[in-house]
Amino acid sequence: MSGQFTNRYARLILGAARSVIGPEAWRDALRQAGLARYEEALPPPSPDPGITFAEMSAFCQAIRERFGPDGKWMLRRIGHEVFQQGLPSYSWLANLARLVSGSCKRLGSEFYNAMQRAAAIVRMETGTFPLIWREGDWVYWDNPSCPYCVGLSCAEPCCDLPAGTLEAITAWVLERPVEAIRVVQESSRACGEPSCRYRIEW
Ligand SMILES: [Zn+2]
Repeated sequence: MSGQFTNRYARLILGAARSVIGPEAWRDALRQAGLARYEEALPPPSPDPGITFAEMSAFCQAIRERFGPDGKWMLRRIGHEVFQQGLPSYSWLANLARLVSGSCKRLGSEFYNAMQRAAAIVRMETGTFPLIWREGDWVYWDNPSCPYCVGLSCAEPCCDLPAGTLEAITAWVLERPVEAIRVVQESSRACGEPSCRYRIEW
């Protein structure tokens, strides 16, 4: 079963994409994904269901195809932008201490808590349930119902938009440049695996 993004979250993603890839590529990707209805006006900032997971997945695929080898990087940048543009609208971030001081051990558990809060946002905006856990120095993010690769088949893990958002959240929480953060996608439903899993190295 395919779920839906809320209108407000779809609005955030589509708006971020337009600012990264420019209006022309953006319009083409919308059309290719069957989302031409948003060419003139983005979805309203409401919590109602809007774009389906299959439509959003097709939108990401259209960007990958257009930019070829740079597609992955483009989608990561869109993911960064989703976080930057979404920052003011989520009050959870205002309550989130940035982790510039403290012991490494404390940092680990607070970073883990930050990721739990991010997962709560994803639950609210997509109805999917990412699982988060720590393993050694790393934090894992695992979504068995990833909304970015529905109906897709990729030779290697291809859900770079959410990977970019995870990079941006991690960089923000730790006050590090986003280039210093590594988020590796270990598995993908688009590759026939049971979930889309990311290893967050920080
Ligand atoms: Zn995925």
